[in-house]
Amino acid sequence: MNHTGFAPTFVKGIALAAILSLITITPCTAATGNAVSPSATDNWESAIVATTAKVTPAVKDVRLALNETPNAPEQVRKAALTSIDVAEASALRVWMLYSLGVEPGSPYLNTQDSFVLQAALDALPMHVTALVKAQTSYNAKLTQAKKKAAAKATKPAAAKASKKAPAAKFLTTAQYRKQAEAFLKTLPGGKKVTIEWGDPQGHLGGVWMPGSSTIILNAKKLDRQLDRTKDVLRHEIGHIHQNWTMAKLNVSMKTYEARSNAVFGGVEPAADAVAIVLGASSVYYKSDFTKAQLNAARNILKDKMP
Ligand SMILES: [Zn+2]
Repeated sequence: MNHTGFAPTFVKGIALAAILSLITITPCTAATGNAVSPSATDNWESAIVATTAKVTPAVKDVRLALNETPNAPEQVRKAALTSIDVAEASALRVWMLYSLGVEPGSPYLNTQDSFVLQAALDALPMHVTALVKAQTSYNAKLTQAKKKAAAKATKPAAAKASKKAPAAKFLTTAQYRKQAEAFLKTLPGGKKVTIEWGDPQGHLGGVWMPGSSTIILNAKKLDRQLDRTKDVLRHEIGHIHQNWTMAKLNVSMKTYEARSNAVFGGVEPAADAVAIVLGASSVYYKSDFTKAQLNAARNILKDKMP
Protein backbone atom coordinates (compact mmCIF):
# COMPACT_ATOMS: atom_id res chain seq x y z
CA MET A 1 0.00 0.00 0.00
CA ASN A 2 1.26 3.39 -0.77
CA HIS A 3 -0.36 6.17 1.21
CA THR A 4 2.67 8.40 1.54
CA GLY A 5 0.98 11.13 -0.38
CA PHE A 6 -2.11 11.64 1.74
CA ALA A 7 -2.40 15.08 3.12
CA PRO A 8 -2.46 15.93 6.85
CA THR A 9 -5.72 17.81 6.24
CA PHE A 10 -7.33 14.56 5.27
CA VAL A 11 -6.23 13.05 8.55
CA LYS A 12 -7.96 15.87 10.37
CA GLY A 13 -11.10 15.30 8.33
CA ILE A 14 -11.65 11.77 9.54
CA ALA A 15 -10.42 12.39 13.08
CA LEU A 16 -13.85 12.82 14.63
CA ALA A 17 -15.21 9.57 13.25
CA ALA A 18 -12.08 7.80 14.40
CA ILE A 19 -12.43 9.08 18.00
CA LEU A 20 -15.61 7.05 18.38
CA SER A 21 -14.21 3.93 16.79
CA LEU A 22 -11.11 4.14 18.94
CA ILE A 23 -13.13 3.44 22.02
CA THR A 24 -14.67 0.22 20.72
CA ILE A 25 -11.95 -1.19 18.53
CA THR A 26 -9.99 -3.98 20.15
CA PRO A 27 -7.09 -4.95 17.92
CA CYS A 28 -6.71 -8.67 17.46
CA THR A 29 -2.95 -8.44 17.37
CA ALA A 30 -1.34 -9.90 20.45
CA ALA A 31 0.46 -7.51 22.74
CA THR A 32 4.21 -7.73 22.71
CA GLY A 33 5.00 -5.33 25.51
CA ASN A 34 4.79 -1.65 26.22
CA ALA A 35 8.24 -0.60 25.06
CA VAL A 36 8.86 -0.56 21.37
CA SER A 37 12.39 -1.11 20.32
CA PRO A 38 13.36 0.99 17.28
CA SER A 39 15.40 -1.90 15.97
CA ALA A 40 12.59 -4.45 16.21
CA THR A 41 10.93 -3.32 13.04
CA ASP A 42 9.13 -6.63 12.57
CA ASN A 43 7.18 -6.23 15.79
CA TRP A 44 6.66 -2.54 15.42
CA GLU A 45 3.17 -2.71 13.97
CA SER A 46 1.73 -5.22 16.42
CA ALA A 47 3.33 -3.40 19.34
CA ILE A 48 1.81 -0.05 18.48
CA VAL A 49 -1.61 -1.62 18.02
CA ALA A 50 -1.35 -3.26 21.43
CA THR A 51 -0.23 -0.03 23.09
CA THR A 52 -3.04 1.93 21.48
CA ALA A 53 -5.57 -0.57 22.79
CA LYS A 54 -4.35 0.04 26.34
CA VAL A 55 -5.22 3.72 26.18
CA THR A 56 -9.01 3.20 26.33
CA PRO A 57 -9.17 1.29 29.64
CA ALA A 58 -6.49 3.54 31.18
CA VAL A 59 -8.47 6.65 30.19
CA LYS A 60 -11.61 5.02 31.59
CA ASP A 61 -9.86 4.60 34.95
CA VAL A 62 -8.93 8.29 35.04
CA ARG A 63 -12.48 9.35 34.13
CA LEU A 64 -13.89 7.14 36.92
CA ALA A 65 -11.39 8.68 39.33
CA LEU A 66 -12.47 12.15 38.20
CA ASN A 67 -16.10 11.23 38.94
CA GLU A 68 -15.26 9.93 42.37
CA THR A 69 -12.98 12.79 43.41
CA PRO A 70 -15.12 15.93 43.01
CA ASN A 71 -13.21 17.68 45.79
CA ALA A 72 -9.72 17.20 44.39
CA PRO A 73 -8.09 20.59 43.72
CA GLU A 74 -8.85 22.07 40.31
CA GLN A 75 -5.21 21.88 39.18
CA VAL A 76 -5.10 18.13 39.90
CA ARG A 77 -8.32 17.60 37.94
CA LYS A 78 -7.09 19.76 35.03
CA ALA A 79 -3.81 17.86 34.86
CA ALA A 80 -5.74 14.58 34.70
CA LEU A 81 -7.98 15.89 31.90
CA THR A 82 -4.97 17.15 29.95
CA SER A 83 -3.32 13.78 30.33
CA ILE A 84 -6.44 12.13 28.91
CA ASP A 85 -6.40 14.50 25.94
CA VAL A 86 -2.73 13.84 25.20
CA ALA A 87 -3.13 10.05 25.44
CA GLU A 88 -6.25 9.97 23.31
CA ALA A 89 -4.86 12.30 20.68
CA SER A 90 -1.64 10.33 20.50
CA ALA A 91 -3.44 6.99 20.28
CA LEU A 92 -5.81 8.37 17.71
CA ARG A 93 -3.00 9.58 15.51
CA VAL A 94 -1.14 6.29 15.66
CA TRP A 95 -4.23 4.17 15.21
CA MET A 96 -5.54 6.19 12.33
CA LEU A 97 -2.30 6.30 10.39
CA TYR A 98 -1.78 2.61 10.97
CA SER A 99 -5.28 1.64 9.96
CA LEU A 100 -5.00 3.79 6.88
CA GLY A 101 -2.02 1.76 5.87
CA VAL A 102 0.76 4.28 6.45
CA GLU A 103 4.02 2.41 6.50
CA PRO A 104 5.80 2.32 9.82
CA GLY A 105 8.94 4.39 9.65
CA SER A 106 7.39 6.85 7.22
CA PRO A 107 7.42 10.57 8.02
CA TYR A 108 3.86 10.17 9.28
CA LEU A 109 4.26 7.17 11.53
CA ASN A 110 7.59 6.48 13.18
CA THR A 111 9.13 5.26 16.41
CA GLN A 112 8.82 8.75 17.88
CA ASP A 113 5.05 8.42 17.70
CA SER A 114 5.34 5.17 19.58
CA PHE A 115 7.37 6.77 22.39
CA VAL A 116 4.97 9.69 22.69
CA LEU A 117 2.03 7.31 22.92
CA GLN A 118 3.78 5.13 25.50
CA ALA A 119 4.63 8.17 27.65
CA ALA A 120 1.04 9.39 27.51
CA LEU A 121 -0.24 5.95 28.48
CA ASP A 122 2.23 5.64 31.36
CA ALA A 123 1.13 9.02 32.74
CA LEU A 124 -2.56 8.07 33.13
CA PRO A 125 -2.37 5.86 36.28
CA MET A 126 -0.35 8.56 38.08
CA HIS A 127 -3.29 10.91 37.70
CA VAL A 128 -5.65 8.33 39.21
CA THR A 129 -3.33 8.13 42.22
CA ALA A 130 -3.11 11.91 42.51
CA LEU A 131 -6.89 12.33 42.33
CA VAL A 132 -7.61 9.65 44.94
CA LYS A 133 -4.94 11.06 47.25
CA ALA A 134 -6.38 14.56 46.97
CA GLN A 135 -9.93 13.37 47.67
CA THR A 136 -8.79 11.28 50.65
CA SER A 137 -7.03 14.30 52.09
CA TYR A 138 -10.16 16.40 51.56
CA ASN A 139 -12.34 13.77 53.29
CA ALA A 140 -9.98 13.59 56.25
CA LYS A 141 -10.04 17.37 56.66
CA LEU A 142 -13.83 17.39 56.39
CA THR A 143 -14.17 14.68 59.06
CA GLN A 144 -11.88 16.64 61.35
CA ALA A 145 -13.85 19.84 60.77
CA LYS A 146 -17.12 18.02 61.50
CA LYS A 147 -15.69 16.58 64.72
CA LYS A 148 -14.56 20.03 65.78
CA ALA A 149 -17.99 21.52 65.00
CA ALA A 150 -19.73 18.72 66.91
CA ALA A 151 -17.45 19.23 69.90
CA LYS A 152 -18.17 22.97 69.80
CA ALA A 153 -21.93 22.30 69.64
CA THR A 154 -21.95 19.92 72.60
CA LYS A 155 -19.65 22.04 74.78
CA PRO A 156 -22.12 24.83 75.60
CA ALA A 157 -24.87 22.27 76.28
CA ALA A 158 -22.60 20.37 78.66
CA ALA A 159 -21.59 23.61 80.36
CA LYS A 160 -25.24 24.57 80.78
CA ALA A 161 -26.07 21.16 82.25
CA SER A 162 -23.24 21.35 84.75
CA LYS A 163 -24.37 24.83 85.79
CA LYS A 164 -27.90 23.56 86.36
CA ALA A 165 -26.82 20.57 88.42
CA PRO A 166 -26.27 22.31 91.77
CA ALA A 167 -29.62 24.12 91.57
CA ALA A 168 -31.88 23.97 94.63
CA LYS A 169 -34.47 21.87 92.79
CA PHE A 170 -32.30 18.78 93.04
CA LEU A 171 -31.96 18.45 96.79
CA THR A 172 -31.04 15.21 98.42
CA THR A 173 -33.39 14.14 101.22
CA ALA A 174 -30.75 15.08 103.79
CA GLN A 175 -30.29 18.55 102.26
CA TYR A 176 -34.06 19.03 102.08
CA ARG A 177 -34.62 18.08 105.75
CA LYS A 178 -31.80 20.35 106.84
CA GLN A 179 -33.39 23.26 104.98
CA ALA A 180 -36.88 22.47 106.32
CA GLU A 181 -35.54 22.39 109.89
CA ALA A 182 -33.69 25.65 109.32
CA PHE A 183 -36.89 27.24 108.01
CA LEU A 184 -38.85 26.08 111.07
CA LYS A 185 -36.40 27.99 113.27
CA THR A 186 -37.33 31.22 111.43
CA LEU A 187 -41.01 30.86 112.43
CA PRO A 188 -42.31 32.38 115.74
CA GLY A 189 -41.39 29.88 118.49
CA GLY A 190 -39.86 27.56 115.88
CA LYS A 191 -36.59 27.20 117.75
CA LYS A 192 -38.37 25.30 120.52
CA VAL A 193 -40.05 22.91 118.08
CA THR A 194 -38.66 19.67 116.66
CA ILE A 195 -39.62 17.83 113.51
CA GLU A 196 -40.32 14.12 113.53
CA TRP A 197 -39.94 12.67 110.03
CA GLY A 198 -42.60 9.98 109.88
CA ASP A 199 -46.24 9.53 108.88
CA PRO A 200 -48.89 11.63 110.62
CA GLN A 201 -51.71 9.19 109.86
CA GLY A 202 -51.46 9.82 106.12
CA HIS A 203 -51.64 13.62 106.48
CA LEU A 204 -48.82 15.83 105.24
CA GLY A 205 -48.19 17.10 108.77
CA GLY A 206 -49.60 16.74 112.28
CA VAL A 207 -49.38 17.82 115.90
CA TRP A 208 -50.91 15.99 118.86
CA MET A 209 -53.50 18.20 120.59
CA PRO A 210 -53.15 18.80 123.40
CA GLY A 211 -49.58 17.58 123.26
CA SER A 212 -45.89 18.11 122.77
CA SER A 213 -43.84 20.58 120.79
CA THR A 214 -43.21 18.11 118.00
CA ILE A 215 -44.38 18.48 114.42
CA ILE A 216 -44.71 15.19 112.60
CA LEU A 217 -44.09 15.59 108.88
CA ASN A 218 -44.91 13.01 106.23
CA ALA A 219 -41.41 11.92 105.20
CA LYS A 220 -42.62 10.16 102.05
CA LYS A 221 -45.22 12.60 100.72
CA LEU A 222 -43.21 15.74 101.35
CA ASP A 223 -39.75 14.42 100.56
CA ARG A 224 -37.59 17.10 98.88
CA GLN A 225 -40.63 19.37 98.28
CA LEU A 226 -39.30 22.30 100.23
CA ASP A 227 -41.91 24.94 99.31
CA ARG A 228 -44.80 22.62 100.11
CA THR A 229 -43.11 21.61 103.37
CA LYS A 230 -42.71 25.27 104.37
CA ASP A 231 -46.46 25.83 104.01
CA VAL A 232 -47.19 22.70 106.07
CA LEU A 233 -44.82 23.99 108.78
CA ARG A 234 -46.58 27.41 108.74
CA HIS A 235 -49.83 25.58 109.50
CA GLU A 236 -48.45 23.13 112.08
CA ILE A 237 -46.70 25.85 114.07
CA GLY A 238 -50.22 27.23 114.58
CA HIS A 239 -51.20 23.98 116.32
CA ILE A 240 -48.03 24.14 118.42
CA HIS A 241 -49.07 27.62 119.64
CA GLN A 242 -52.58 26.34 120.31
CA ASN A 243 -51.00 23.67 122.53
CA TRP A 244 -48.76 26.21 124.24
CA THR A 245 -51.71 28.56 124.87
CA MET A 246 -53.81 25.80 126.45
CA ALA A 247 -50.90 24.81 128.68
CA LYS A 248 -49.95 28.34 129.57
CA LEU A 249 -53.51 29.52 130.32
CA ASN A 250 -54.58 26.13 131.69
CA VAL A 251 -57.42 25.97 129.19
CA SER A 252 -59.01 22.60 128.36
CA MET A 253 -59.07 21.27 124.81
CA LYS A 254 -62.89 21.51 124.89
CA THR A 255 -62.85 25.21 125.83
CA TYR A 256 -60.13 26.02 123.31
CA GLU A 257 -61.99 24.23 120.51
CA ALA A 258 -65.21 26.12 121.34
CA ARG A 259 -63.39 29.44 121.07
CA SER A 260 -61.71 28.38 117.82
CA ASN A 261 -65.07 27.29 116.37
CA ALA A 262 -66.58 30.67 117.23
CA VAL A 263 -63.77 32.71 115.67
CA PHE A 264 -62.53 30.55 112.72
CA GLY A 265 -64.90 27.60 112.42
CA GLY A 266 -62.46 25.19 114.12
CA VAL A 267 -58.86 24.64 115.19
CA GLU A 268 -57.92 23.66 111.61
CA PRO A 269 -59.11 26.83 109.87
CA ALA A 270 -57.43 28.70 112.75
CA ALA A 271 -54.09 27.04 111.89
CA ASP A 272 -54.66 27.99 108.23
CA ALA A 273 -55.16 31.61 109.29
CA VAL A 274 -51.84 31.40 111.14
CA ALA A 275 -50.21 29.92 108.01
CA ILE A 276 -51.47 32.81 105.89
CA VAL A 277 -50.21 35.34 108.41
CA LEU A 278 -46.81 33.60 108.12
CA GLY A 279 -46.88 33.91 104.32
CA ALA A 280 -48.22 30.54 103.17
CA SER A 281 -49.24 30.38 99.49
CA SER A 282 -51.38 27.27 99.87
CA VAL A 283 -53.65 26.19 102.72
CA TYR A 284 -55.96 23.21 103.08
CA TYR A 285 -59.09 24.07 105.10
CA LYS A 286 -59.81 27.74 104.52
CA SER A 287 -58.14 30.60 102.68
CA ASP A 288 -60.51 33.57 103.01
CA PHE A 289 -60.18 35.32 106.33
CA THR A 290 -61.42 38.63 107.64
CA LYS A 291 -59.13 41.21 109.16
CA ALA A 292 -60.45 40.26 112.58
CA GLN A 293 -59.70 36.59 111.97
CA LEU A 294 -56.14 37.37 110.79
CA ASN A 295 -55.66 39.49 113.94
CA ALA A 296 -56.96 36.56 116.01
CA ALA A 297 -54.36 34.39 114.23
CA ARG A 298 -51.63 36.83 115.28
CA ASN A 299 -52.84 36.37 118.89
CA ILE A 300 -52.44 32.60 118.49
CA LEU A 301 -48.79 33.18 117.60
CA LYS A 302 -48.45 35.22 120.84
CA ASP A 303 -49.90 32.25 122.79
CA LYS A 304 -53.07 34.20 123.57
CA MET A 305 -56.67 33.01 123.20
CA PRO A 306 -57.91 33.89 119.69
ZN1 LIG B 1 -53.93 20.98 111.15
